Amino acid sequence: MPPKRPLTLGDIIEVYCSKCRLNLDASVAAIIDGNVVKVMCRTCGNEVPNKAPVDPKLKKDKALERLMKMRAKKSEGPKMAVPSPESPAVAVRKLWDDLTASADPRRAKVYDLHRSYAVNDVLLHKQFGMGVVHARDQDGELNVLFRDGFERIASDQPVDE
Ligand SMILES: [Zn+2]
Repeated sequence: MPPKRPLTLGDIIEVYCSKCRLNLDASVAAIIDGNVVKVMCRTCGNEVPNKAPVDPKLKKDKALERLMKMRAKKSEGPKMAVPSPESPAVAVRKLWDDLTASADPRRAKVYDLHRSYAVNDVLLHKQFGMGVVHARDQDGELNVLFRDGFERIASDQPVDE
């Protein structure tokens, strides 16, 4: 290794600029006991602490690691309620399967805007297929679980004369 001459003020070195959040050239701005403590970023012009350049791959890996940890933490809670780490869509489909498995399609009511339905009624919708009424608002709006998820549809609407 060639002998390094000690850095002096104004020397250009590569640092990690905490303002730009990038590895950039900076000029040495302060030296204490032979250590560069402050640099001036040549890109943003700010005086920032001298930080060694960051390996972008390492940084990415760390960010990924953090993300995974956050995900793991997040799934700890809901895991108690939902036994398997399924996506919501899969969970909804499973619920629909369970609810409609015991339903007799012959007893299913054909959906009609003007009819009224109760919670747990099985209905047949032209577009969404078989569904189970999950909730009903005072004004007749139904929240129905269909094969592809929940849909809000109107019911109990007055017939126009
Ligand atoms: Zn900068």
